[in-house]
Amino acid sequence: MSGSLKAGPRSEAAFERSKARFPGGVNSPVRAFGSVGGTPRFVERAEGPYVYDVDGGRYLDLVGSWGPMILGHRHPDVERAVEAALRHGTSFGAPTTRELELADRVVDRYAFVDRLRFTNSGTEATMSALRVARGATGRDKVVKFVGQYHGHADGLLVAAGSGAMTTGVPSSAGVPAPVAAQTLVAPFNDPAALEATFAEHGDAIAAVIVEPVSGNMGVVEPTPAFRAALHEVPRRHGALLVVDEVMTGFRLARGGAIQRHGWTPDLVAWGKVLGGGLPVGGFGGTAAAMDHVSPLGKVYQAGTLSGNPLAMAAGVATLDAIDATPDAYARLDAIGAALADGLRDGAARAGVPVTVNQVGAMATVFFRDGEVRDFDDAAASDTAAFGRWFHALLARGVWWPPSQFEAAFPSLALSDAMVEEVVTAAADAFADVA
Ligand SMILES: *Cc1c(COP(=O)(O)O)cnc(C)c1O
Repeated sequence: MSGSLKAGPRSEAAFERSKARFPGGVNSPVRAFGSVGGTPRFVERAEGPYVYDVDGGRYLDLVGSWGPMILGHRHPDVERAVEAALRHGTSFGAPTTRELELADRVVDRYAFVDRLRFTNSGTEATMSALRVARGATGRDKVVKFVGQYHGHADGLLVAAGSGAMTTGVPSSAGVPAPVAAQTLVAPFNDPAALEATFAEHGDAIAAVIVEPVSGNMGVVEPTPAFRAALHEVPRRHGALLVVDEVMTGFRLARGGAIQRHGWTPDLVAWGKVLGGGLPVGGFGGTAAAMDHVSPLGKVYQAGTLSGNPLAMAAGVATLDAIDATPDAYARLDAIGAALADGLRDGAARAGVPVTVNQVGAMATVFFRDGEVRDFDDAAASDTAAFGRWFHALLARGVWWPPSQFEAAFPSLALSDAMVEEVVTAAADAFADVA
């Protein structure tokens, strides 16, 4: 294979110094290249569809900061808006009309939302949404699905226990078992298991939280039967449906995945695209649910930097720039489809068995034969082959997510010719792996 595990000398030196300063050399685990091997490239800057590393390498960016950079990097409208906000001061700890500007744009896209709160991350958003669900219902348990990720709050770092029943066990050291036990874990795309969970624990369940299109086990779409069950079963038992749109919101459609699915949930969490590359999350829902939040209600939630003016400005400019792009979501769908078709074709020609799952501008190449419908299917992938392909692709100037179990996030900055470049590089990388 032609992909080198070694980075350039500047990245190698920076990683050595970083390993002395940060656990594993990074401030978020997947950046460390742990599952693909080798040394992460340190980024110097980014522009449009490209990221540039500190050794002068240029890469077509399919990571997009793990989702936020849907317009590509340094979009002029976003940059101008942040610069203008900067000159008014960076934080006040008092309300501003910038928060209203972003909130109005969110509600315009999520019509069921009466009220919302901004946070600084997706983790805070899902954590707070579940607290609201618990406060609103007076119940303690929540249901999540195997392989889905909702940020790193204690009660959500939970894996399925052994046996048929589904009380969660910690998936991270430091999470107390009694906290994990408040989370029930069910397999994704299994309506019968969801029914069984509610049949056994229905009176105690405050909410079901779901990624409406799985991205964090790699891309896996819910089946029509599972979509119908999610919309119906929790409500029948008096539980709330909390949709985690941190990855999918403002990406899969103007109104997110729930627009594609035709869902009306009780609460929704956002992040990533909402902040246009600055730290923003948010959660919102019906007045009935959200009026439990303090100071109106008894559910406490707060943030020193929440609604930060620079972050609000970036979010407003990002959503406006998407709207100003002709047929933005049709274009994102077309980019995703062209990418997926090209990847399938390249793998087939090289004789490498893969399954490519793609929904809009989210795509995963699973190195395995056969459908991927849940976490067990995804986990059967050949991660060593993925790692070789990843490095072969990186060596050809394509920055793909450094993990089998993640989605690639193409942006509106990719031209058709650039998508073709990615497909050609990927085909050559498949040939290396074969
Ligand atoms: C990224 C992500 C989160 C966590 O957001 P952070 O901003 O990283 O805290 C939560 N849920 C989903 C679906 C995500 O993809």
